[in-house]
Amino acid sequence: MATVQALETVKMLVGGRWIAAGSSRSGEVFNPSTGQPIARVPFSTAEEVDRAVKAAHAALPEWAETPAVERARVLFRFRERLVEESENLARLVTREHGKTLSESRASVQRGVEMVEFACGVPSLLMGQTLPNIARDVDCETVRHPVGVCVGITPFNFPVMVPLWMVPVALACGNTFVLKPSEKVPLSALKLGELLIESGLPDGVFNIVHGDKECVDALLEHSDVSAVSFVGSTAAARHVYETGTRKGKRVQAAGGAKNHLIIMPDADLDQAARALQASAFGCAGERCMAGSVALPVGGIGDRLVERLRELAGQMRVGPTDGREDVDMGPVIGRDHLNRVAGYLDVALAEGAHIALDGRKAASGDGFLIGPSVLDRVEPAMRVAREEIFGPVLSVLRVDNLEAALAIGRNCPYGNGASIFTRSGWAAREFKHRFNAGMIGINVGVPAPMAWFPFTGWNQSFFGDLHIQGIEGVQFYTRQKMTMTRWFESASQPGDDPLWQGGKSRT
Ligand code: NAD
Repeated sequence: MATVQALETVKMLVGGRWIAAGSSRSGEVFNPSTGQPIARVPFSTAEEVDRAVKAAHAALPEWAETPAVERARVLFRFRERLVEESENLARLVTREHGKTLSESRASVQRGVEMVEFACGVPSLLMGQTLPNIARDVDCETVRHPVGVCVGITPFNFPVMVPLWMVPVALACGNTFVLKPSEKVPLSALKLGELLIESGLPDGVFNIVHGDKECVDALLEHSDVSAVSFVGSTAAARHVYETGTRKGKRVQAAGGAKNHLIIMPDADLDQAARALQASAFGCAGERCMAGSVALPVGGIGDRLVERLRELAGQMRVGPTDGREDVDMGPVIGRDHLNRVAGYLDVALAEGAHIALDGRKAASGDGFLIGPSVLDRVEPAMRVAREEIFGPVLSVLRVDNLEAALAIGRNCPYGNGASIFTRSGWAAREFKHRFNAGMIGINVGVPAPMAWFPFTGWNQSFFGDLHIQGIEGVQFYTRQKMTMTRWFESASQPGDDPLWQGGKSRT
């Protein structure tokens, strides 16, 4: 077993230099495949956070004035380095997070696409102009950076979620301080290395580490202008309320409880396979994972049987360095116990365990197999609470209206999907379901880089979402200019718009 002394101690990135944190508080980073610690992460103090924010603040004027085309060139180089290093990054994600290598590769690819989106920044930043808004008066808007931006990210996508934020913020001329999840800080360090290698000036991108204390120091800091957060709903609400109270712009994506509706006319096998991938992909640790299946009409038994078959065939095991696994471990021992505990809760509340994931895995890693719960009712905890693990609850409903009602009563609102051959049912569902991201015959309706990640209700606090053009809007503030020029250099006459200027001459 690795000793604490032998563990690599994670560094902070401040002003272009890797520095050791002096904090007495720290945490361990685990390899979920083995259950063993692989690194130690010191939690940055308020003073260390202040140094990082000051470094970002000092780098801001120069970077903000760097032409957008030149900023984009840095991002083009970053994109190339990411692609060259993508296999190493994927292996690092698997090592500290535990998802399968193919899932890690896909997540890195989604991150690369965010950089590709941000490389278009000269076009994305273009403002609007209306000549002759009044006679001889022109009006235009341009976009300016907002200042020092902060990103606070969750454990479940160690490369992808930071890349939802960092490239767009930097492309828009902001500087950045990233606080990655203390459970998976290693991938973020690699992103820092690649950004430096891509020619990003010192101080434009910084990294601090820690938990709520570090987050609060960032939220309190007067030089921070904008905060992007992704994580659980409780933390998202706290970040949004504290950040906005301090006068900052905040976008805070929270937790989820996603519904998958299967209409009687659906291709049941296609739907069951999509449900399997949605609920058990990344061991259920996705904010877009399907969590509650709602079979409509009399198809419940057939659906449960097919799900049981498919999920029961999944190979569950350690993922680090292995390709022959369909589902890896969850993030930690506590989380494993919490997920397993939901099966007892479900049983006690009267649900039926159609497939028990606790029997599917053994070993030192944080392993639990896929579980299918049947005969779930809307009031049960497994139907209402975010489990964030490989557990799919099946709740039978009589008709589409009943499925829509379950969505209406759900406090979250990230995503929902329908499986059907009926255009009418799909249209009704798309229009009326109470969630911000809708899938039709797809299990995970997560938008790609070019579209905003439009969670609703308690799955998102704020206005402008992460990704797509809303990301550019979040990381910029607009300036309007109204212009009138005169034919000659002579005095402008009695125009009331000119009075201020005239009085100064
Ligand atoms: P988490 O809320 O525990 O942690 C997220 C980040 O917030 C981490 O950096 C952590 O250090 C920090 N943090 C934790 N508690 C805090 C607090 N009380 N105050 C301030 N900061 C705090 O979330 P997690 O366990 O890392 O990630 C899983 C959660 O993230 C799930 O709820 C999942 O649905 C959600 N998530 C949402 C999205 C989305 O786009 N909506 C995407 C990915 C994950």
